[in-house]
Amino acid sequence: KVRVRFAPSPTGPLHIGGVRTALFNYLFAKKHGGDFILRVEDTDQNRFVEGAEAYITEALSWCGITVDEGTMKDGGFGPYKQSERKHLYREYADILLEKGHAYYAFDTAETLDAHRKDHEANGKTFIYNWHNRLKLSNSLSLTQDEVNAKLEAGEAYVIRFKSPEDEILNLKDIVRGDVEVNTNVLDDKVLFKSDGMPTYHLANIVDDHLMEITHVIRGEEWLPSLALHYLLYRSFEWEAPEFAHLPLILRPTGKGKLSKRDGAKFGFPVFPLEWNDQKGDETFKGFREEGYFNDAMINFLAFLGWNPGTEQEIFSLDELIETFELERINKAGARFDIDKMKWFNQQYMQLQSDESLAEAFQKSQAELVGIDVNYIALVVGMIKERATFVSDFWNLSHFFFVEPQEYDEKASKKALKEGTSEILQQLIQIVEPIEDFTVENLQTDIKGWITSNEIGFGKVMQPLRLALVGALQGPDLFQIMFMIGKQETIKRIQKVVE
Ligand code: GLU
Repeated sequence: KVRVRFAPSPTGPLHIGGVRTALFNYLFAKKHGGDFILRVEDTDQNRFVEGAEAYITEALSWCGITVDEGTMKDGGFGPYKQSERKHLYREYADILLEKGHAYYAFDTAETLDAHRKDHEANGKTFIYNWHNRLKLSNSLSLTQDEVNAKLEAGEAYVIRFKSPEDEILNLKDIVRGDVEVNTNVLDDKVLFKSDGMPTYHLANIVDDHLMEITHVIRGEEWLPSLALHYLLYRSFEWEAPEFAHLPLILRPTGKGKLSKRDGAKFGFPVFPLEWNDQKGDETFKGFREEGYFNDAMINFLAFLGWNPGTEQEIFSLDELIETFELERINKAGARFDIDKMKWFNQQYMQLQSDESLAEAFQKSQAELVGIDVNYIALVVGMIKERATFVSDFWNLSHFFFVEPQEYDEKASKKALKEGTSEILQQLIQIVEPIEDFTVENLQTDIKGWITSNEIGFGKVMQPLRLALVGALQGPDLFQIMFMIGKQETIKRIQKVVE
């Protein structure tokens, strides 16, 4: 059975790239009738950020990504938070020590720093591995007695992985194809820290194994760790899962990786939900708060690095599940194009019911308090085609609710000419007697009057539009008259005549 995991570290809010990783994992799991697991990787206590975990769960649920197993839902493989699994990892570090795949190292930060500087001075990079190991203080360079003495004395130590010398690894990645790595360039990564906590690498592999993860789908930034992870599986004699590393998400310019700072720089959100960074006292915009629809965002994210190979662009979550294939993920970075995101939002706007949009509109606009929501829904139906966000609605429709507060200057010049006043007065005479104030009756009577008196449509319709809307744009005028009613129509025309 397919089992995938999304394994964020609660070091801050979930960036849009993280949401895409979660989404691709979710789509793949659901496509194969598998499970989507949420595991919280919080072993780095220095980077822990208050509220980040709650943010992650709320963001996933807003996106419609449901977790099969995780911190709130035990599936028999828990706990799902690494800090609660602390006791486990030491045991596995010991296995590697016993098998000779790991060793104790006692070097202080100062010694390591000195080595680094020394190498730099000679134009080299210091790598803690076969090349330097024996010059340093560890259980490979010291005698067993020396090591025991240090451990008994309670000296601070870490456990490092012993990477093999001079071996070519052939790593497989579903997105990248085969990747060759020479083990000589790998350093002996720390697996277990002096604070009694495992590092990401050890905890991640142990948990993926114990949680029976079949596919690891994660960001490209983890590709450099693949060799170590592969070696860890081999050292434990465990079967490794399959790997798929997702391409980077690039800035709108196509240059460089999209970062959380880019949101402020380019003026669009890069987080699903708004986030208030308490440390920097800074608020980062969220897609939700900016008025993006969750399903539109999901559709947009699905296309960041993946495509179905057809012309179709609008996909519901279910359709995405059906169509998604890891094999169709691109290697090349995906440009984050906010205009495309807006286009998706506009498309999804049309798919929403007028009633639900009307409710959202009413909540967002003080002028609409107390107005019949059915009336608002009718208005929404007439204008939503031209809107990207619910926040665009008021500009497109205020004249359905309140009379024009001002008249556009250019439009006034264009619409109000000599004789306009008389024409509008006559128009009132036409409108007044219409008993059944329907679009059809208005159309027949007004058009009939214009044609039989040869007045010219522009001469009537332009000033009429100005009177009703305050500008020369907007939906069909007969519709507007019908919606605001006879009294209001006449009142607005009169106001221009005066
Ligand atoms: N905790 C890692 C992260 O924050 C998980 C990486 C992985 O999926 O292996 O991205």
